[in-house]
Amino acid sequence: MTAIGYMPLLKAGATLYSAVVIHSRMFQSSSFTSSLHAIYGQDIKNHAMSLLGSGVGEAAKRIFGPTASQRQVLEQHTLFGAYSRAMAPQVASTLAGQLIAGNGGKFRSAFRGHRGRQIPRLATTCMRSCEKCIAEDISLQGFASWHVLHLLPSIGHCPYHGEPLRDEAKRERAGGLLPLSLPGERPSTVTSIEAMNLPVSDGYAAYLRLWIEAFEGNLTGIAPDLWMLVMDAVVRRFGTIAHASEKISGTIQKSWGVPLVEVASALGIADGPLFVQAELEQRVQASYVASRLVICGALDELKISPPRCDSSPWHSPLELAPVAPFGSWLTPQTQAELRRLVIDANFPPALFRTMTEDLDIHEVDERLHLNHLVLGKFFQTLPDELLDRMSKEQSWDRSSWLKKEIRRREVAWSLSERQ
Ligand SMILES: [Zn+2]
Repeated sequence: MTAIGYMPLLKAGATLYSAVVIHSRMFQSSSFTSSLHAIYGQDIKNHAMSLLGSGVGEAAKRIFGPTASQRQVLEQHTLFGAYSRAMAPQVASTLAGQLIAGNGGKFRSAFRGHRGRQIPRLATTCMRSCEKCIAEDISLQGFASWHVLHLLPSIGHCPYHGEPLRDEAKRERAGGLLPLSLPGERPSTVTSIEAMNLPVSDGYAAYLRLWIEAFEGNLTGIAPDLWMLVMDAVVRRFGTIAHASEKISGTIQKSWGVPLVEVASALGIADGPLFVQAELEQRVQASYVASRLVICGALDELKISPPRCDSSPWHSPLELAPVAPFGSWLTPQTQAELRRLVIDANFPPALFRTMTEDLDIHEVDERLHLNHLVLGKFFQTLPDELLDRMSKEQSWDRSSWLKKEIRRREVAWSLSERQ
């Protein structure tokens, strides 16, 4: 490993790409690729991957020194810091390990599994800048840096200043490298991203601020384990899912000044106008952050805020309660174990409840709109011992997903015995 020599400190929230540009200026490097190489220790061909955090392992050592925490660099300087806050700890750690090792292709797999739900675009196709951020950076540190949060495709304004973002530093061709420049150095135009079609409203402003809270790690309530309790508590508060959905949807509509369907479409939220209901039914995978933040804004408005880092989860204005065992014959311990496995595999909480019912795989799929092939693969990863216990604790039909998975294992086992 070669250290790259003195570099000005990148403040939290600045992309590592800024370091590449600064490096090339300080060391008059011969080309962009040689500066990229100096920062990442390898050739970077896909720039979007590095914005998501791919290759951070080497970059962290070279920019911040051998003792820097790679996880912290990922969280403070790449889009991993924005998206991982809504992931289960297990899912986030696995992804962090893959990114540190330079395997950015795994990022999208943290969003997989839902039939008909499009994986949102994760980063804008060009760099974007905010005039106020540029002025502030220059007065504080002498140079402007690119900011991670400006690269979120579901925002049109700077979350720190509310200024319309400007599209700048476009790639010469799709998937290619970005030009070597810092914010404000190239011609720019006001961003044409879809979120710009929304009126500037209280709801949108609160949503922008929530992205900062999520990125800084303060909004702990959006991680799957707590979010599940938050959604349970909201439903308890309003009596039924339908009533809670009506109340929250009404609050969003009022504070954003447009119908829900327009909010969903402008922010690229799957499920369209039904996203509030999908969240309340706990059918949404953890990685979809935008819909969760819109709902958090409404909960804040209704004075039933989800937990934050600076207040203990149990002191949230919402009365959270531990997950209660529910109407199946499975013991609480079996239910808890199944829940852990479902959440750690990045499926929505509704899946474990559905899996405790005597249903076949297509019925499970039908109810949750997951992909049955992805589901089938997940069933194959469940421990033998758990399936065995589940089959004894309640009765299951021959056609149920559980009996079929047990039979599949028996057949596979007897085939391997015969060889
Ligand atoms: Zn700004």
